[in-house]
Amino acid sequence: MKPRLLVLSLGGTITMLPSDAGGITPTLGAAELVSSVPALAEVAEIEAASPFRVASPSLTLDNLVDVAARIEAAFATGIDGAVVIQGTDTIEESAFLLDLLVAGDKPVVVTGAMRGADAPGADGPANLLAAARVAVAPASRGLGTLVVLNYDIHAARFVQKSHTVLPSAFLSPLMGPLGTVIEGRPRYYARITRQPCLAATAGPPRPVALLRAAMGDDTRLMAAVADLGYAGAVIEGMGAGHVHADAAPVLGAMARRIPVVLASRVMTGPVFTETYGYAGAEIDLIGRGLVPAGYLSGLKARLLLGLLLRDSPDRGVIADAFSCYG
Ligand code: ASP
Repeated sequence: MKPRLLVLSLGGTITMLPSDAGGITPTLGAAELVSSVPALAEVAEIEAASPFRVASPSLTLDNLVDVAARIEAAFATGIDGAVVIQGTDTIEESAFLLDLLVAGDKPVVVTGAMRGADAPGADGPANLLAAARVAVAPASRGLGTLVVLNYDIHAARFVQKSHTVLPSAFLSPLMGPLGTVIEGRPRYYARITRQPCLAATAGPPRPVALLRAAMGDDTRLMAAVADLGYAGAVIEGMGAGHVHADAAPVLGAMARRIPVVLASRVMTGPVFTETYGYAGAEIDLIGRGLVPAGYLSGLKARLLLGLLLRDSPDRGVIADAFSCYG
């Protein structure tokens, strides 16, 4: 018997065709995408649905919580794996949210395309087929949410969009992809252990501000954040987690009012915790109450903090959650 696969389409370039108004826009749904790849019929019994049909910058965190709930409900009825089709602009965020929200061993695979559905060399069909093959493979179980494009298989916590155009845009700069789809099946070269999941039923993440430290910034935005109604904030510091000396007390004041997580604006690598002793460096900022994000990017740290803040966690609970990604 063939495995049962849920395919959910949220939109994105993979669904886009030229519109009368000019440019390409989301058009195709999951059923059309599936029927355009006949080889999928040999991979799985597919249940296709199109809960959204938008460009991925317009996806909301509520949309993704809804997707997580749909996947968990499908898994409860015996579906063996799920493929989520969406725009590539926000895949690194969606995949990490689904990784945090969908519990259990069954694979969830997010895919998309860098070229429109009618473009010469469109990469959507190959990506969809590869994603389906990964999602039904026993070897993919227990790895959480994966991202498959260009035959690479990435872990949600590491993957980043790194180019605006190329089909090879997705990288996991910290450690590389977990595996590759070769001769129609996934080959894994590394495995990761899952980190604790958070309930999809507890609602969407709370609003978390994401700020990037920049040379010469006068801190007026940082100083305003705590009064804007955010439940927390993530600061992407310079290097291993550093800001101008004058910004340190501003961030300390923020951390006395709302939880503040310290990530890095650098493409990859963990923030430090015990190396630099100057004002505005990581030891100073952590001493002022900021929580180090480990190796999570600012984008991913914002999602984890937002989900944690659905409860009223103390600093220790937040620090423990982030220490899994140290
Ligand atoms: N702007 C598109 C989107 O994210 C890009 C893509 O799908 O590749 O929806």
